[in-house]
Amino acid sequence: MCGIVGYLGNKEAYPILIKGLHRLEYRGYDSAGVALVNSSSDLKVYKTKGKVADLESYTKGKDVSGTIGIAHTRWATHGEPNNVNAHPHYSQSESLALIHNGIIENYAVIKEDLIKRGYKFQSDTDTEVLVQLIEYIKNTNKIGLCQAVQLALTQAVGAYAIAVIEKGNPNQIIAARKSSPLVIGIGDDEFFLASDATPIIEYTNRVIYLDDEEVAIIRRGEEVHIKTLANVEKTHEVKELELSLNELEKGGFPHFMLKEIYEQPKRIAEAMRGRINVEANSVALAGVIDNKEKFLNARRILIVACGTSWHAGLIGEYLLEEFARIPVEVEYASEFRYRNPIINKGDIVIAISQSGETADTLAAIELARNAGAFVYGICNVVGSSIPRNTDSGSYTHVGPEIGVASTKAFTAQVTVLSLIALTIAHLKGTIEPDRYQELIKELASIPAKMIRTLEVNAQIKDFASIFTYAKNFIYLGRGYNYPVALEGALKLKEISYIHAEGYPAAEMKHGPIALIDAEMPVVVIAPNKGMYEKTISNIQEVKARKGRVISIITEGDETVKKLSDYTIEIPETEECFVPLLASIPLQLMAYHIAVVKGCNVDQPRNLAKSVTVE
Ligand code: GLU
Repeated sequence: MCGIVGYLGNKEAYPILIKGLHRLEYRGYDSAGVALVNSSSDLKVYKTKGKVADLESYTKGKDVSGTIGIAHTRWATHGEPNNVNAHPHYSQSESLALIHNGIIENYAVIKEDLIKRGYKFQSDTDTEVLVQLIEYIKNTNKIGLCQAVQLALTQAVGAYAIAVIEKGNPNQIIAARKSSPLVIGIGDDEFFLASDATPIIEYTNRVIYLDDEEVAIIRRGEEVHIKTLANVEKTHEVKELELSLNELEKGGFPHFMLKEIYEQPKRIAEAMRGRINVEANSVALAGVIDNKEKFLNARRILIVACGTSWHAGLIGEYLLEEFARIPVEVEYASEFRYRNPIINKGDIVIAISQSGETADTLAAIELARNAGAFVYGICNVVGSSIPRNTDSGSYTHVGPEIGVASTKAFTAQVTVLSLIALTIAHLKGTIEPDRYQELIKELASIPAKMIRTLEVNAQIKDFASIFTYAKNFIYLGRGYNYPVALEGALKLKEISYIHAEGYPAAEMKHGPIALIDAEMPVVVIAPNKGMYEKTISNIQEVKARKGRVISIITEGDETVKKLSDYTIEIPETEECFVPLLASIPLQLMAYHIAVVKGCNVDQPRNLAKSVTVE
């Protein structure tokens, strides 16, 4: 949520900052702004409601010179998206400009105090108090900017990644973070600052990840200095990024989402590479094997996650209980962290997050670790906060996911959860060797089956236009496919703004069946596995009420085909792996319906990727 970028070097900052904002736009896009110190040491701020392209139009013909600057693309938390609430925010005397990602929870108290001291506020944001407080502390104590930032941040409660620049000083950026991400790129005589590495990779692959409550002093001609809020010097290892630039481009696809849907066969194969050995018929997930005793003795596994990752967690529950025979509970991280959950020493907590920065999941991890649980992370972004704050874990290795609606990250999370379940089951002996080998073989064949599944794209594109009339959709599935129904409904809601409900198919008769009429499209995930006959009965119940059935069926299944208005075929696979294939037509359906409706697929309204605020 919200992208921040900074540059200090020998080049003109503005084009670098704008390019960086475009790379980060998936994180927020309701307003954008830039602050620059030019060669006469003037501090200029330009900001506007809307997207980065609106900022570019707004700055046309204006003085955007300068080799130092900071920029922001916002996802509003406090104050509506408008020109005034856009970042950067000036201090009262307009000698400081600040950008912020996060929430200052005690902003109202600080604001009230500063108002009493004669400060006037322009915006409704929580952010503005920071820049005013920094100026107030700096002026009253007659201290430098870095010290003023340190002192101000000791008063701030909440989450922040900030960057501040100063009029009269074209040689310094002060940045700091707590619970919101911040990466510093180190080039030749130049420095970059960003919420994630995507704006940096074009210029350098050498980065430093700041830790919580650390302040970075970035000065021209000097090494980056890092200090804590209490002024203790810190040294950080410079890490090398493994990102490539073409992973950040659309590669000929009209949208990142479609590109990412199509990448799934390749990415899922990458998620399994080195972890699955078909010749030896074995799975070896280092994170689990290295902590074998913990997993063998686990009395319970708690999975904490949000959104799509929570749906992957539900599939994980089915997998782990079926194969590893360990009781599993799946929790929304945001509920878990605030409800005083019972966590025992032998518990394992698995935290799932694509970005590795999800604020609620991070807080849930902290709670679990303090209670003595062993915490295992499943994340995509290498070097992000969750992998740095967990005892062990597995990366999903799907490359950057830029479309706001998660696709490949979801199927990769399910793949990793399958590997975890099979690894534990094998170690514990809760799976027959023959069955274990059958499942490994089948999992290894999933990428090829995904390629076949993607062939339904043209068919889905054709019928998508039929359903744009719908105001509501129902998605039904049973067993492993219940979470798939939830995820399918979420995808449709996110990008096409059609209300959709996912339900366990058998639960329909306890309420949602009242909604079914001839107008209601009902998507049923009905492979020829698991509770196939029972799902057929549920389809009959929908048909009896004139609902329009779109079913996801196993190739060649004539029975469900006859009952359905539309069918989409997926290759036959094991019941536990159906989610990996059945998710694909649901992703494509949401995508094409949204496109036909003219929605902005990669940047749906009100949403942003990487939810770094509570
Ligand atoms: N809380 C700040 C605002 O509403 C920053 C939000 C963000 O992280 O995008 O302006």
